[in-house]
Amino acid sequence: MSRKPIVAVVGRPNVGKSTFFNRIAGKRISIVEDTPGVTRDRVYADCEWLNYKFTMIDTGGIEPNSSDVILAQMRDQAQIAIDTADVIIFLCDGKYSYTAADEEIAQMLRISKKPVLLVLNKIDVYHKPDHFYDYYTLGLGDPLLISSANALGLGDLLDEVVKCFDDAIRDTEEEDTIKICFIGKPNVGKSSMVNKIIGEKRVIVSDIAGTTRDAIDTPFEYKGQSFTLIDTAGIRRKSKVNESIEKYSVLRAMTAVERADVCFIMIDAQEGVTDQDKKVAGLAHEAGKAAVIVVNKWDLIEKDNRTFNEYTRTVRDELAYMSYAPILFVSAETGQRVEQLLDQAVYVSNNHALRISTGVLNDILNEAIALNQTPSDKGKRLKIYYATQASVKPPTFVLFVNDKELAHFSYIRYLENQLRKNFNFEGTPIVFNVRQRG
Ligand code: GDP
Ligand code: GDP
Repeated sequence: MSRKPIVAVVGRPNVGKSTFFNRIAGKRISIVEDTPGVTRDRVYADCEWLNYKFTMIDTGGIEPNSSDVILAQMRDQAQIAIDTADVIIFLCDGKYSYTAADEEIAQMLRISKKPVLLVLNKIDVYHKPDHFYDYYTLGLGDPLLISSANALGLGDLLDEVVKCFDDAIRDTEEEDTIKICFIGKPNVGKSSMVNKIIGEKRVIVSDIAGTTRDAIDTPFEYKGQSFTLIDTAGIRRKSKVNESIEKYSVLRAMTAVERADVCFIMIDAQEGVTDQDKKVAGLAHEAGKAAVIVVNKWDLIEKDNRTFNEYTRTVRDELAYMSYAPILFVSAETGQRVEQLLDQAVYVSNNHALRISTGVLNDILNEAIALNQTPSDKGKRLKIYYATQASVKPPTFVLFVNDKELAHFSYIRYLENQLRKNFNFEGTPIVFNVRQRG
C-alpha cells in the first residue's frame, strides 16, 4: 500500500496561498469525522485529482509584522516543505516581478532537488505579463499561470502536480520495512529518543544517507527486522525551524504521520497529557496508523507502588479514543525500556496488517448480535446482512445493512469491542464503513 503524497504550498504573505488552498481543498476536501478533543487547524486538507489522493499543506498563515520576520518565516516555510513534501508549489504574485525574498526561497527550493512548480497567481485574465520572463531567472523552470480568485489554470497545475507523484511514489515501494515516527510537542524528548535508539548496540544503522529519497529518513535493522525511522523533519539535525510555533510542530507531525506505519506518541511524564498532545495523537488516529503511547522522562517521576496504575488511568482518560494503543513508560535519558519500543513497533504493525476471513468475521458478528440485539427505531430494526474486511493498515470492515440511520455509533462501537475481544487488534484503530443495501 502506498502512502498519500504531500503537496506543500509556500510563498510570501499576500500572494494568495490561502485563497489557492481553499480553492483546491474547498471543493474536494473530504471531511473526516472529528475526533473528540481534536480541534482542527486548517493547515492541511485531503485532496483528490484524477484519482490521485494527496494531502495539501499550507505552510503560511502566521501574521508577520516586519520584513525581517517575513523572510525568516519564509525560510521556515520552505524548510518544512523541503523536509516533508513530495511536490512543492511555490506561489508568487504574478502581478509583479519576483522580489528578493522570492529569490532567496527559490534558491533554497532549487538546491533541495525536490520537484518544485513555480506558479504565478493573480493572472485573472489569461495573458503572459511583461515580467513573465523575469521569473526564469529563479531557475525553477516554466512558470505556470493561475488565478485563484477566478479559478483559472488550476486544472493544468494539478495535472503537473500529479505527474510528479509517480516518481515520488515509485521510490518508496520496498515494503518489508516498518516505518516508524516519533511525534510530540517540542522538548518532549524526540531527538533524544531517536539518538538513543540509533545508538543501541543491537540496532544496525545502514548509513546510506543520500541514496534514499528522503535523506532525513534513517534505515536500520533490529533483530533481523528492517525499520525506517521517519524523521519528523530535522529531529536528528535539529533544524532551525521555529518549533515554538505550534502550527509548525503540528504540520511536521502530520507529514511524518502520513508517511509512517507506526506512530510513537510521546508524552512528557512530568507534564501529563496536554491539549497539544491530544491534537498530535488525533493525527495518528485519524490517519488510521498503528500507535504506541510513549510516556517519556519516566526517570523524573517519583514513584511508589500506585504510580504506574494511576498514571496509566490518567493517560487512558485523556486519550480515550486511543484505548487500543499500548502505553510504555520510558526514559530517553537512561535508556529504560527503549529497546521495547522496537518490539512494540513490530507487534502493533502486525496487528495493523491483520486480516480476518469473511467466514470467521461473520460468525463473530452473528454471535455479537445474538448477545446484544441491534437497535431499532419506530418499529424498524437494524439488520446487518453481511460483513467483510475491505483492507488492512488500518483494518477496515464494510457492513452491509438495511438502514444506515439505524447503525448508531454506540452499536458500532459495541461491535468493534467484540472484534477486539476475539482478535488481537492492539495498537491499531479499526474502521467501519456502513453501507446500505436493499
Ligand atoms: P496569503 O497571505 O498568501 O495566504 O494570501 P491570501 O490568500 O490571503 O490573498 C491575499 C490577497 O490576494 C487577498 O486580498 C486575496 O483576495 C487576493 N488574491 C488571492 N488570489 C488572487 C487572484 O487570483 N487574483 C486576484 N486579483 N487577487 C487574489
Ligand atoms: P525534542 O524537542 O522533542 O526533540 O526534545 P529533546 O530530545 O531535544 O529533549 C528536550 C530536553 O529533554 C533535553 O534537555 C533532553 O536532555 C531532555 N530529555 C529528553 N528525554 C529525557 C528523559 O527521558 N529524561 C530526562 N530526564 N530528560 C530527558
